[in-house]
Formats: sequence, C-alpha cells, structure tokens
Amino acid sequence: MATNTGLGHLAVASWGDELTDTPLKLFLCPACQLPTIAIGAFERERSVCRICKSTSRERAVAQAMRKAIKLRPKAERIIGVSDSKWMVKFATKLFGNRYANHHYHQEPLLDIVNPDPVLFNSADIVSCCEVLEHIEPPANRSFTGLFNILKPGGIAVLSVPHTRSGDAHVEHFPEMRDTKLEMEPTPRWTGYTPDGEFHSYGDLNFHGGLGSTLEFRVYSEDSFRSFLENAGFKILEIIPNDRLHGIVWEPWSRVWLAQKPS
Ligand SMILES: [Zn+2]
Repeated sequence: MATNTGLGHLAVASWGDELTDTPLKLFLCPACQLPTIAIGAFERERSVCRICKSTSRERAVAQAMRKAIKLRPKAERIIGVSDSKWMVKFATKLFGNRYANHHYHQEPLLDIVNPDPVLFNSADIVSCCEVLEHIEPPANRSFTGLFNILKPGGIAVLSVPHTRSGDAHVEHFPEMRDTKLEMEPTPRWTGYTPDGEFHSYGDLNFHGGLGSTLEFRVYSEDSFRSFLENAGFKILEIIPNDRLHGIVWEPWSRVWLAQKPS
C-alpha cells in the first residue's frame, strides 16, 4: 500500500502483513539506529539500509547483539568467529576494544572445532554468522567449541542458512580424513573415509562465489535447534520478522540467540 508520507512522491511500504514490491521502504534501522529506507526487495541478503548498508539479516544480527548486551551488560569480551567486514564495523562501534574478530588462518586465531583451551569460558558474547555450514563434518564439534569458549551465562548470536521446521537436514559429505578441495579441472571435495576408501565429490555448492566457502550441509530449523541443545545451549530466541526495524524475509534462515546456562 502506498501512503503519502510528506516525503514528496516517495511511495513507502505500510506496516501491514503484505510484502510489497515498493522500491523504497521506511524503517528504523537496528544497526545504525536511524530512520532510513531500504534499497531493493525485502529479502534476507538484500533490502540494504541506505545509511549503514546493512542487509535484512545483518539488521537481525544487530538486533540480536543489542539484546545480548542487555543480557550481559558488563560484558568484557566479545568474540567474532570469522565475522564479515560489515559485522566487524558494527561490533567495533558497539563494543570498542572489548570485541575482537577471530580467524581460522590469522591472528587472533580460533579453530571453532578445536578451540585453544586458553579461550575456554572467556567470552561473554560470541557472534558466529554464516560459518557453521562451512565446517567439515561432524558438525557437532563446532557447536561444542562455541559452547566451550563462552562463559557460563554467555550468549551466542548465530545465523546459518536453514530450511523450515519439518525439512530434512542435509549433510553433503561423510566424515573423511586427509580432505582436499581440488579446483582443477572442476571443483571436487576428496578424502578418505574411516575404512580407508577414497571418495571424490563434485557438483559442489559455494557461498560467495566459486572457490570461496564450500557448503558442507544445509540445516533445517529442527536440526539447528538440536545441534545447539545437544551442545548444552538454551535457545533464547529466534529473531522474527519485524518490519518496523527492516527485518523482513521468508520465515526460514533466521538469526538465533542462545545461552550457555550459568
Ligand atoms: Zn542502518
């Protein structure tokens, strides 16, 4: 529905239930905290904030981080797990030098599958967004790693692409050793199963372009919940659509808030 906003001839979305194709949409951005408009259709990785360039998903992450800090107002250490450039900028603005992004290949180091025990019980808040689908099986080790680096009562802000409740969890590859990603002549994921058998898989799915991040699995809402709960997490919230704050996309692939019990 187009409404006259006093902004000249701008047509803006109403806050009704319908998703609209209106090119300009007003909302209060939870990332930059300014009234702003979105560019592009309301989708998870689109509808970019005109001011801070956050996508719908990033605004949900921003909202989750603001909730996390309310739950941990005295947070001293916030750890990012391979956070995106946008996330680093947002978290640094929010937390200053209490926040540090960590990497698998560069300092400060963090292997979420096997974290250095020095990091155990060290983080008040951990952000781990669009990472857990890119880790070699078995997937459960990375959930345990996240759990271990959090202090008791610490909060994890998480996102993965996931399908709906009731859909199947899909693992693309078995657990293998001596694994390799070969790009020539065509991309293949290879390795040896525990019985010593060589396997080679083609038809790979990469996120963010060929050769960047290989997709190892597709979670469903149910499997993601189970992995979290099996690691010991208590799920606090799955951030819902919130049109007033520019968080609007299909009801799957949400941002999650989970807590390590005190
Ligand atoms: Zn913004």
